[in-house]
Amino acid sequence: MQAEPQAFDRVLSSMCTDPHPAAREAAERFLATNPGDPGSYPTVADLEDEVIDRLGEIAGLADPHGYVASGGTEANIQAVRISRNRAETETPNVVMSESGHFSFRKAANLLGVELRVVPVDDDRRIDLAAAQEAVDEETALVVGVAGSTEYGRVDPIPALGGVAEDVGALFHVDAAWGGFVLPFTDHEWHFSHAAVDTLTIDPHKMGQAAVPAGGLLVRDDDLLDELAVDTPYLESTSQATLTGTRSGAGVASAVAAIDELWPDGYHAQYERSQENAEWLARELRNRSYPVVEPELPIVAASVPGSLFEALRMDGWRISRTGANELRIVCMPHVTREILETFLADFDRLESRLPASVPGDD
Ligand SMILES: *Cc1c(COP(=O)(O)O)cnc(C)c1O
Repeated sequence: MQAEPQAFDRVLSSMCTDPHPAAREAAERFLATNPGDPGSYPTVADLEDEVIDRLGEIAGLADPHGYVASGGTEANIQAVRISRNRAETETPNVVMSESGHFSFRKAANLLGVELRVVPVDDDRRIDLAAAQEAVDEETALVVGVAGSTEYGRVDPIPALGGVAEDVGALFHVDAAWGGFVLPFTDHEWHFSHAAVDTLTIDPHKMGQAAVPAGGLLVRDDDLLDELAVDTPYLESTSQATLTGTRSGAGVASAVAAIDELWPDGYHAQYERSQENAEWLARELRNRSYPVVEPELPIVAASVPGSLFEALRMDGWRISRTGANELRIVCMPHVTREILETFLADFDRLESRLPASVPGDD
């Protein structure tokens, strides 16, 4: 096998990043461990408890329960599963906004629940009145996004928790990407800000751990019981995870990254990423392209489709929003220098395009 993984210097579209060196080293050491079988692999099982304690600290939960999932997708599926298993109706529904992650579509499909998608307001946050309108006695779960995948927006979490509470639904916050930057902002997003029951926070995104390291946190132990199945051939007696065998690499790397970086390293990284996002937004706006204000370090801008394609052809890994905007995620590996190189290519390629109206595809 001679292939090499890609370098990160042209990757502007990913929500994952080059793992912190300590995380990489820990992942390698724990590669051959399986936290799905804690009776056989007790050391990594202890490390997993440590990850959950640390994630609880980050997400405002003093006595956290949960586990290290394969990613935000699994954590979100499990949150929906908890709510469905707890619901007293045969026809439960889940309410989220159109900015919710597509993993909830997978969850709804797998679990046979109805997904009610409500619009966002002018600032791309869930429309609270529409959410209120959408919930009913059969709502098992209301989902709030804290750091949306496309625009990095944060739903009004405390108020949305109130909407869930009104109909006796559980309340889930999806901070898969945002969880490691929001602690350094004024946003209200976690367990001690609102009546949150379950929360997704992924060490393998802004947490700088190796893939796979997602996190599911629950406020009360009995919520996890909704997921538990008996495990006849293992020494441990029950399992709440979706996967059976799972990677200890993610678990160990999450502990290592959080040990190294929480809170000061993450704080400094947030500042760098946010400054880069604001700088890039300014530069694009100066070129008279419409830009969505980066409230968290994600920039979206309307640029001509031909320019987008030319940049991709040039080797830049960039992505588009559902509305066809250029979307750039300012992850830790996306330095100012990389963005300057990107903009130089942007200007060079733009000058070769046939005249077009900014924002017009
Ligand atoms: C990335 C992301 C997910 C999915 O996480 P994976 O680790 O890719 O499974 C879910 N929700 C949000 C908000 C995300 O940004």
